[in-house]
Amino acid sequence: MQIARRIARQITRRGLLRLLGAAAMAAGAAPRSVPASAGGAAHANAGFTQRFAEAFLDQYWQRNTDAAIAVGYYRVADRLTVPDARYRREYLQFLDAALRQLHEVRADRLDARQRTDWAVLDSQLRYERWALTRLREWQWNPAQYNVAEPFALICNTDYAPLDQRLRSALARLRDVPAYYDAARQAIDDPTLEHTRLAIEQNQGTLELFDVDLQQRLAAATLGADERALFARRLAAARAAITGFVGWLEGLQQSLAGGGGRSFRLGRVLYAEKFQFVHQSGEDAATLYGRALQEKQQVLQRMAQLSEQLWSRYLAGEQPPADRFDRIGRLIGKLSEHHVAPADYLPGIERLIPQLVQWVQQHDLIDLDPTAPLQVRPTPAYERGVAIAGVDAPGPYDPGARTYFNVDPIDRYSDAQAESFLREYNDWTLPVFIIHEAIPGHYVQLMYANRSPSRIKSLFGNGAMIEGWAVYCERMMLESGYGAQAPEQWLLYWKWYLRSVTNTILDYGVHVLGMSEAEARLLLMREAFQSEKEAAAKWLRVQRSSVQLTQYFAGFSAIYRLRTRLEEQQGPRFQLKRFHEQFLSHGSAPVKVIEELMTTADTPA
Ligand code: ZN
Ligand code: ZN
Repeated sequence: MQIARRIARQITRRGLLRLLGAAAMAAGAAPRSVPASAGGAAHANAGFTQRFAEAFLDQYWQRNTDAAIAVGYYRVADRLTVPDARYRREYLQFLDAALRQLHEVRADRLDARQRTDWAVLDSQLRYERWALTRLREWQWNPAQYNVAEPFALICNTDYAPLDQRLRSALARLRDVPAYYDAARQAIDDPTLEHTRLAIEQNQGTLELFDVDLQQRLAAATLGADERALFARRLAAARAAITGFVGWLEGLQQSLAGGGGRSFRLGRVLYAEKFQFVHQSGEDAATLYGRALQEKQQVLQRMAQLSEQLWSRYLAGEQPPADRFDRIGRLIGKLSEHHVAPADYLPGIERLIPQLVQWVQQHDLIDLDPTAPLQVRPTPAYERGVAIAGVDAPGPYDPGARTYFNVDPIDRYSDAQAESFLREYNDWTLPVFIIHEAIPGHYVQLMYANRSPSRIKSLFGNGAMIEGWAVYCERMMLESGYGAQAPEQWLLYWKWYLRSVTNTILDYGVHVLGMSEAEARLLLMREAFQSEKEAAAKWLRVQRSSVQLTQYFAGFSAIYRLRTRLEEQQGPRFQLKRFHEQFLSHGSAPVKVIEELMTTADTPA
């Protein structure tokens, strides 16, 4: 079940952003800059959101049916998009027409909220155009081709009665052979790494058809004719996938000898993609340079804290001469302090209200007391993907409620559980929950929902979203959470070093040609990560690019904005007001929020 579960990825908002990225050939987007409002702003185009954006989205989902299902737009569930040359040609025309229409709107006459919608949309369209014509991942990344996820969502989401959902699946199955034909036509000069990934994931799709879909069929009340049709289409779909996997295995063999396209994006494409994903005004090389500096400062702090703590925990032991060994030894010792396996889920259940209380008592940000976050074990079909995370309804499914899913660790062996709990020890676990829930991702989502903008929740800026969660970790500790204990800070710095290292790794691998051995040294020796974490990260950096830089980039942009306003406002600065204003603009790029927060005519 492991693979089927991984494919049936969780329906968290962040999951959706990633999913949209793959399905719509674009991930996370952001505007160049927001046109300033013309003094007083006659809102001649105040109907922009209704008139333009909603109509655009309906057309968009017609052309991106996989991504549509992932955001809860089920009207197109019975249609599979066949990714052939004609589709790409028409999609390019669609993007160009939408861009033309968008630029007929006088953005400078829109109010702040609609101006940011306009700018986010503009950037998304230009990004998709670039991805289609310049990045051309549809050509070299075979892992883009996989029909599993929408089928998993149709099977496992209760958006309609089971029979109706299965009829959608039946209609969608019809074009699976055409889909994989188109995939073979499109693939040209693929990378070995993405070919491998495609083989693995499409094998998982077979499992999804054989297990999950069969189970749903057994529970449905379809007639004999429909069942017969199902069996025929399923057999044809299986054959198409098996054929595709076999074809990829042939490719893999010829690529294994070397000489194929590199998975590394290279300096030019990386720089271009970086601008679209971040839209921060900073270039990739500058961010990389800042990350290198930050790493040295963090290590210095960690070395000082280790010195301070050594005699408390390792009194009888001679400190190793090497700085990394010293810090690592102490982190290892502190990691022994963790909950028992049976207390893991209850421990998180206790942490949530504690964090809520801390945030309220220290006046950090207003929380909605009527909607307490409910912790639950991750539902079975979503397990094995994320350790924990907010499971929020998509923008087209607002009725559903929000949960905090925690993946149970009861299927782990004793040794696996021990290693996991050492990683999420007494000091790290709260930092992790701060990031994922209070006041991190969950609170950001709550504020984004207050000023509903489908455009921004669908195409929101990843650096803003991840940056906010990383910022919250620091802000909570600065407010005194963890009692300023040196143990708490040392393990916080280790955790934060991961964000910094993500940037160094991503740029190092995709632009500077960092080898796997160099990456392991960076992650395990210099960032104190476990073998397992380093191995997973190496896979991730082979299969994605730029995404890993969002944590440090977003964090540092938010922290810098706060410092700037603190200096400007002096004693008038209020942390709570800063947080609430910052989040009130939705998931827009930090640079755009900064423009809105620092111009006078902004209705915050
Ligand atoms: Zn232990
Ligand atoms: Zn996060």
